[in-house]
Amino acid sequence: MKEFDVVVIGSGPGGYVCAIRCAQLGMKVAIVEKYKTLGGTCLNVGCIPSKAWLDSSEKYHELMHSFKDHGIAASGVKLDFGVMRDRVKKVVTDVTGGINFLMKKNKIEVFYGMGSFKDANTVIVKGDKETVEIKGSKIVIATGSKPSTLPGVTIDKDRVITSTEALVLKELPKKLIVIGGGVIGLELSSVYRRLGSEVTVVEYADSIIATMDAGLGKELHKVLKRDGIEFLLGHGVTEVKATGKKVTVKAKNKADNSEVTLEGDYCLVAVGRRPYTEGLGLDKAGVKMDDRGRVDTNSHLQTNVPHIYAIGDVIKGAMLAHKAEEEGVLVAEYMAGQKPHIDYNLIPGVVYTWPEVAAVGKTEEQLKAEGREYKTGSFKTTASGRARASNESDGFVKVLADKKTDEILGVHMIGPRCADMIAEAVLAMEFRASAEDVGRTSHAHPTYSESMKEACLAATDKRSLNS
Ligand code: FAD
Repeated sequence: MKEFDVVVIGSGPGGYVCAIRCAQLGMKVAIVEKYKTLGGTCLNVGCIPSKAWLDSSEKYHELMHSFKDHGIAASGVKLDFGVMRDRVKKVVTDVTGGINFLMKKNKIEVFYGMGSFKDANTVIVKGDKETVEIKGSKIVIATGSKPSTLPGVTIDKDRVITSTEALVLKELPKKLIVIGGGVIGLELSSVYRRLGSEVTVVEYADSIIATMDAGLGKELHKVLKRDGIEFLLGHGVTEVKATGKKVTVKAKNKADNSEVTLEGDYCLVAVGRRPYTEGLGLDKAGVKMDDRGRVDTNSHLQTNVPHIYAIGDVIKGAMLAHKAEEEGVLVAEYMAGQKPHIDYNLIPGVVYTWPEVAAVGKTEEQLKAEGREYKTGSFKTTASGRARASNESDGFVKVLADKKTDEILGVHMIGPRCADMIAEAVLAMEFRASAEDVGRTSHAHPTYSESMKEACLAATDKRSLNS
């Protein structure tokens, strides 16, 4: 039986990054993956294909709707959905192939097959052709998550689908009903709306992206509505029924109990994801789960069995690729005797709609609930020269800073390229910068990132120079 210092189960961004960091630190590492491609949800059916679709659909949408404002007229434009889908597939093949390269480069042995615990140190890997057993002095559970559904709603993967199927549809939906106004629901709504589908989003909360700062949801709602997405907010879905090529969705208005019936050809259920531990045999290793089906871990991401760790979507916290990656690195370094640390308050959240939405740190709602005294500084996209040059006008950057010390406590932005711009806010907060520190930092002109500087100046003491 092959023996390793570390066996990592799952090759998503948590697992593969953990394996690489372990190898860098001199450990002998194995990684186990049940699918034939590495990279997990993120690379195969998550972050990467969704961004590839968003990019292609944005190009099409721009050509159809906004190029004319730049004096570019195009006729005979044709959407080839098949070519678009094949490009996305190729992107996935390329990036997952890249992980194979990284495994080889770092001398990490890959075992393909379903991994399950035989005991607390042995993992059985059941592959297509053979079943092998491997031993790890330490084991890292990085098995990720799967889409969840609503009680009574059956995903048939044909007409009633999850994000996984929505990323590989054979045809463009005529009418898509999306259940869930969170990140995944809105990103995929944007893709299909831009390509020409009629899209209705049904959301139980009274706002979209309800966990983010309220101002962001309000602005995004306004823009997406203008782009033609219909919203039924404050509506709870009571029934989803597929008959042939038709899907019927019934939803009840929370306020007055009135019922709405929607008809479409596809229904995307995007109501969140659940940790994935099926078939893992956690009981054989004596690993405990919490009351929400997640692998229970302490602050070092150790389970109740000290040499077994867990990271990423399968444990508590935000279900994000970069959170999983940070945890992979933390576990590797902790196992090597180092003292790593993650500040979970500084894990940014991004929505890749257009305009993009990004945030880090505390929301106004959280600061109010904590009774913390804070000040705000905002800068509107309309006042940005760079945004004007690109015909962009939606959005703003809002900085929240401590009322006395001026330390930045949260940054919430919606607008062009915010997904990239948020990194500056994260870095500033990692170094516990004040709003004035950022306000006094030279930002190249004209750039979108000047909006961050201006919002910081506004937060410092209303010193914004361009608004
Ligand atoms: P996963 O990526 O889920 O990987 C787990 C791996 O473990 C899988 O490959 C699985 O096959 C394997 N596995 C499970 N059980 C076993 C077993 N018993 N034996 C062997 N292998 C096993 N996050 C972002 O940060 N940015 C985004 O833009 C973003 N976009 C997304 C878009 C969509 C449509 C979706 C669905 C998700 C998106 N996410 C995004 C979330 C992100 O994909 C996840 O947070 C991330 O993949 C979690 O990483 P992980 O390593 O914990 O698990």
